[in-house]
Amino acid sequence: MNYIKGYRCTICGKFFKPDEVDLTCPLCGEKGILDIEYDYDALREVLTKDYFKNCKDYSMWRYYPLMGIEKDHIGEMLRIGWTPLNKSNNLQKYLGLKQLYIKDDGLNPSGSSKDRASGVAVLKAIEAGAKVISCSSTGNAASSCACHAAHMGLPAVIFVPKRAPIGKLTQISLYGATLIIVDGDYKAAFSLSKQAISKYGWYNRNAAINPFMIEGKKTVSFEIAEQLDFKPTDWVVCSVGDGCTIGGVYKGFYELHKLGLIDRIPKILGVQSSGCEPFVVASKKNSALEECEENTIADSIAVGIPRNPNKALRAVKNSSGAWISVPDEDIIAAMSLLGRTEGIFGEPAAVASVAGLQKAIKEGIISKDESVTVIITGNGLKDPNNAQKAIKKPELLSPDINKLDIYLKGKGVI
Ligand SMILES: *Cc1c(COP(=O)(O)O)cnc(C)c1O
Ligand SMILES: [Zn+2]
Repeated sequence: MNYIKGYRCTICGKFFKPDEVDLTCPLCGEKGILDIEYDYDALREVLTKDYFKNCKDYSMWRYYPLMGIEKDHIGEMLRIGWTPLNKSNNLQKYLGLKQLYIKDDGLNPSGSSKDRASGVAVLKAIEAGAKVISCSSTGNAASSCACHAAHMGLPAVIFVPKRAPIGKLTQISLYGATLIIVDGDYKAAFSLSKQAISKYGWYNRNAAINPFMIEGKKTVSFEIAEQLDFKPTDWVVCSVGDGCTIGGVYKGFYELHKLGLIDRIPKILGVQSSGCEPFVVASKKNSALEECEENTIADSIAVGIPRNPNKALRAVKNSSGAWISVPDEDIIAAMSLLGRTEGIFGEPAAVASVAGLQKAIKEGIISKDESVTVIITGNGLKDPNNAQKAIKKPELLSPDINKLDIYLKGKGVI
């Protein structure tokens, strides 16, 4: 049984019963992204602290009653989620923060947070009896969709913009999906995928349109809360492209609060790249989102037309959080900082969160006596070309101990 009560439109606010809608609001059309509401009274009896204490499933599937999925095929899926929440050893000191945790979501099966959404998408596609699953993506949704579809024997057709990094493109092909590299940006890839999905009747994994994607993404907050014994930090920081991740982060904490499992919802800091910052601009101007250029090395958050604006805006507003943007130089510097202080290698979009945290501390948005969790949403190995901008190219040394001696002295190692 699932506990879904119905769907509420994020634009007109109208509530629909489960059998009254397909993917989006029948009144508002494609922009009418739906939000799934559950029978929280019933769930309060099921999802107790004891349930979690006794649950042996250390993956995001432990939250399945709150994910709108049937249990039947969960056991056949790859393990997704329950990624480590590392207590910071060195970065915390460097930043002068009282308490910093790092949620390393790059350790998911395909190397990014997108696995949380794609796992749900593949299960929903199977529930719906779909023959093919499809999505467009800046790269990570694509590679994770291909990954989990492959594991479940479901064909996948994936659309990506031409600038998708080589690591992600390789993953998609290696997982056996049909890869369409669109000669254009993400907006172009999204538009072509939309036409194809409706023409061929494929299952639509597109993150905003499909209201179930956020049901996977929100499990990151369930985990953060549980890993901190239901006392989450004052702030949670994540980077933002389409807005599905941050929408999920908020929804996760909102629901835990509604279930009486946490006392308060953390403030959420949404971080964008200043090369593509539609949410930051809209929040500064207090106006609707306007289309932006997609001009940043942080490819996963280079989203000129965010497809999930209302859930993302609500996340920051309702949590009394903030929006911030950081230039690419800061993102590159933060990649190296996170790597050398914590041993965590994130891709540019993922580490934008760390750069955003630094800036928020500098600007006094986050004060040093507050506690913070920063989410690293994707693994650095996905994009080695950009990672090389964060390092000094190593020298080639002849196999001579005297040369080594000089080299090590020069480095201050001996
Ligand atoms: C997708 C993605 C994000 C942002 O998620 P949105 O739902 O698009 O806002 C951040 N970091 C990484 C690594 C991603 O892949
Ligand atoms: Zn509507």
